[in-house]
Amino acid sequence: MLFNPATESFESRDPRTREIMKLTVEFFEKKGKAQLKEDDHERRWYRDFIDFIKDNRIFSTLLTPPQYNIDDPEARWDTRRNCDFNEVLGFYGLNYWYAWQVSILGLGPLWMADGEAIKRITAEKLRDGGVFGFGLSEKNHGADLYSSEMKLTPMPDGSFRADGDKYYIGNGNEAALLSVFGKNSETDEYVFFAVKTDHSDYEDVKNIVKSQMHVSEFALRGYPVSADEVLVSGPRAWDAALNTVNIGKFNLGWASIGICTHALYEALKHAANRELYGKYVTDFPHVKHLLTDAYTRLVAMRLFSTRASDYMRVASAKDRRYLLYNPMVKMKVTTQGEEVINNLWEVIAAKGFEKDTFFEMAVRDIRALPKLEGTVHVNMALVVKFMANFLFNPAEYDEVSPQTQAAHDAFLFDQGPTRGLGAIQFHDPEIAYGSIQLPNVEIFKTQIKALKALLSSSPPDKNQKRDMDFLLSLGELFSLVVYGQLILESAKLQDVDNQLLDQIFDFMVRDFSLHALNLYSTTSTTSEQADHCLKMIHRPAIDESRFTSVWERFVLVQKDAYEMSP
Ligand SMILES: Cc1cc2nc3c(=O)[nH]c(=O)nc-3n(C[C@H](O)[C@H](O)[C@H](O)COP(=O)(O)OP(=O)(O)OC[C@H]3O[C@@H](n4cnc5c(N)ncnc54)[C@H](O)[C@@H]3O)c2cc1C
Repeated sequence: MLFNPATESFESRDPRTREIMKLTVEFFEKKGKAQLKEDDHERRWYRDFIDFIKDNRIFSTLLTPPQYNIDDPEARWDTRRNCDFNEVLGFYGLNYWYAWQVSILGLGPLWMADGEAIKRITAEKLRDGGVFGFGLSEKNHGADLYSSEMKLTPMPDGSFRADGDKYYIGNGNEAALLSVFGKNSETDEYVFFAVKTDHSDYEDVKNIVKSQMHVSEFALRGYPVSADEVLVSGPRAWDAALNTVNIGKFNLGWASIGICTHALYEALKHAANRELYGKYVTDFPHVKHLLTDAYTRLVAMRLFSTRASDYMRVASAKDRRYLLYNPMVKMKVTTQGEEVINNLWEVIAAKGFEKDTFFEMAVRDIRALPKLEGTVHVNMALVVKFMANFLFNPAEYDEVSPQTQAAHDAFLFDQGPTRGLGAIQFHDPEIAYGSIQLPNVEIFKTQIKALKALLSSSPPDKNQKRDMDFLLSLGELFSLVVYGQLILESAKLQDVDNQLLDQIFDFMVRDFSLHALNLYSTTSTTSEQADHCLKMIHRPAIDESRFTSVWERFVLVQKDAYEMSP
């Protein structure tokens, strides 16, 4: 159910994908944990990793659309294999993953550009081992695109000059190209343009983080931009920004899964081999619960994200369901990742502080993911837009099979206008929920029924719809319905053990109750709504034999499954 570098052979992937994943695992295992940690502590820029990527043309294969490939028939943007790569990088360290992540973001507007010439240049730079970056955020405005102050001024000869600063821009020290967002100073239209970090008019002011990764503040003062380097303008530039983030934010969940998986192996190994008062730590009942919770949450994160990637891959102008599942991977999966690390930390305890552990990095890095590419709140605000149609107005769709094909996901670069979210319809969640009867799934269905009763009989009023505090609590409940649905779909496709699935729904029931209590306690919740909330609070179905079986067959059995080479 989880990635394990010691046993994963990537057999089901095509030969080049298998080669990339295996080479990457090998790169990190050869580097070893001691060096990995030393580079992290010394905050050393990962030249070795960038060279490895270049020598093996890895970003070039993974991130070049086939029509721009240079002597590489395996080049394509294949969400499934990019998920694998995210997971592998997250497993070894978020710093490494970040260089890849911001390259993906930077490439979004480049591949969405109007001009062909810049795309050819981009492909060449990828082939030559370049990394990329995405210049959206500004110091005073964060990711508030409306307020962007970066200006592009037209010149009489048809070229442009760029002036302004950007803040929090990954790979700003050496990206081959940065996609920079700003406004045309004459028309006030949004625009994306390409910037070279090795140009004499580009100033990398500083790395704003003390870390291996380079997160730049950069300045452009009269930086010359040719007409070919203007990628997209007007409303399409706005769409390119959001559509790029749609692609990029999906990766955050997979990075979280990678981090948690490594941390789980480390914490479990430590606990299972540590003897206290004549017992192993893993014999304590509360430790069994903490580890089982961590494991089941992690498996659920992976089941959900795998299924969400299927919907990303079948997305089209007619099927935009991915626009709900995608922010959920970003928001729900990454916050579940924090929960997993919290549980594991209770078990690994003091060792989690030790400088030689992976865990010490994991506890720091896991916090970043919910905050990047739009905070949890921003993504929740997006998710609640889908609630009415999702729960009350389903549509017919053909069933989506697992999308593991070696194919290019062209639609991601042609997603079109970003509006009209409230009109998107979904397949009926009842299909998944109705297909399985397990004690905790049944209780969960009762909770969903109570949520629907609240929304039908005392829906949010005008003020509550504008009250983010209220919407966040309500959104958590709604998110659980979506989360559960895709977990069930994925579990069926992957033939997940029923006891394990029921144990997953044990925490789902508890989480539903918790969020119902939150909504109950929210200031603007009416007394009628509060009554409905109480009906959502349930105990999970207690079954000691199921719990013990899951603990023994799935969790404890991993105790010596993996340890990074020293
Ligand atoms: C390490 C790191 C690397 C980064 N890399 C890049 C990069 O390569 N390129 C890039 O462009 N950016 C990058 N960023 C910026 C980052 O992605 C965004 O700025 C971030 O997602 C928003 O954080 P903020 O502090 O600007 O939040 P703010 O936008 O200042 O938000 C502050 C608070 O207001 C809330 N809020 C804001 N807007 C809304 C809303 N519409 N609805 C509800 N609540 C709202 C937020 O949830 C938060 O609680 C990076 C940031 C970091 C820390």
